[in-house]
Amino acid sequence: MAISDKDWTNERVLVVGAGISGIAAARVLKKLGADVTLSDAKKETDVHFDTTELRALGVNLIFGEQKEELLDGVTLVIVSPAVPVRVPLIQAAYARKIPVLSEIELAYDFAKSPILAITGTNGKTTTTTLLGELMKKAPQYKAVGVGGNIGVPLIDEVLRVGEGGVTVAEISSYQLEATNDFRPHIAAILNVTPDHVVRHGSLEVYRQTKEKIFAQQTQDDFIVLNYDNEPTRKMADRAPSHVFFFSRAKKLDEGAFVDDDKNLVIRYGGETHVIMPQSDLIIKGGHNVENALAASAMAYLAGVGIEAIAEMLRSFKGVEHRIEPVRMVDGVMYYNDSKATNTDSAIKALESFPDNKIVLIAGGDDKMTDLTSFMRLVKKRCAKLILIGDASARFKEAALKNEFPAQNIREAGYSMEKAVSIARSLAKEHQIVLLSPACASFDMFSCFEERGKVFKDIVNGMK
Ligand code: ADP
Repeated sequence: MAISDKDWTNERVLVVGAGISGIAAARVLKKLGADVTLSDAKKETDVHFDTTELRALGVNLIFGEQKEELLDGVTLVIVSPAVPVRVPLIQAAYARKIPVLSEIELAYDFAKSPILAITGTNGKTTTTTLLGELMKKAPQYKAVGVGGNIGVPLIDEVLRVGEGGVTVAEISSYQLEATNDFRPHIAAILNVTPDHVVRHGSLEVYRQTKEKIFAQQTQDDFIVLNYDNEPTRKMADRAPSHVFFFSRAKKLDEGAFVDDDKNLVIRYGGETHVIMPQSDLIIKGGHNVENALAASAMAYLAGVGIEAIAEMLRSFKGVEHRIEPVRMVDGVMYYNDSKATNTDSAIKALESFPDNKIVLIAGGDDKMTDLTSFMRLVKKRCAKLILIGDASARFKEAALKNEFPAQNIREAGYSMEKAVSIARSLAKEHQIVLLSPACASFDMFSCFEERGKVFKDIVNGMK
């Protein structure tokens, strides 16, 4: 029986982790009549959400230590993406043979329309947002949902969309840990690079977790894979579904790619469709060409016409905090790339601009990763380097070690205001000022979004 049709009144559900998706799952299941407990290991005072609605609905809220007794009488555990399945409580649930699901899986079970799912180390939000816009161009879908790791619970979106629509889901590897039957009709894995290896234990486990996105697919489904990324290219051998590649580097017999004339094209069923010149994309950088190819491939396979795809791609301005154009001041364009919380992301931003043109603001909460490749590119692309936050000293040392001239480095301490003001005084006409920190934000801000907003406010307030 489909989970959505079952009688929930005899079910006792334990939701582990009071994050966005855990709260949504608790709310939905309680409304369906289940007995729901939401447990979070944090103290109530440390949890940043309003408990009023859940309490009013009658959800039991338990904060603090998560003892195994929480599982007594429980018939279903929903685990939040922030909680690794290896924690003792979840392991105990497995040992007691209690089904453990992620909110993604629950949403999938409730969905009455197809789900198009996107995962990968980088590019998920951009590709998901773009695909959501592309799907709106297809008249055959009555409603389009966009949810998952993007800040809107997937379950809320699939319920809102109902029948006759489609939901685009951004899926993180954390969310895939506790999925079993999740079978998106069209899915994509954008790339796999060493990122969340600490949580998953090894790159191999991380890769395997990502592969759960296609594990339940059949020949009727599609998996869109990045041909240019070795780990995802090799996944083709293991995928049970129809593999559809995208590539920035190779002209494919079938797939989405860039042709000799630098057009974005889709080749399928013996026909080649030119979408548009790559240069018509507003979003910057080679990585965004990949995101555009992946989203176009998925949209095409879901029935969106080539002209509609081109029209949307020509107007898509990207997502906030990702190489986001802010404002031109005195012939200098300012970009907010606050989402670049690691060197890989910052490298993508640097690669998006010509040599020696960038006045870069970097630094923050230091992730202590190796800085060699990043600083080599900084030397090539950046005219000036302005450092902020905890990472300042180590970044400066790495810059000097990679022969970035000392006279072109400034330190702004813990002040974004000061960093922007130094940038303004140093940037010459036709150069750009780029905030791409290559660090987390927690030394100065509550999150990367706040960091980006503060930067934009300062830039927008410049006289
Ligand atoms: P995610 O949701 O996976 O974190 P985003 O779309 O939010 O991805 O992009 C975050 C950052 O990752 C971007 O600012 C950019 O630096 C980098 N990035 C985006 N797309 C790609 C891609 N296809 N390949 C590699 N890096 C990318």
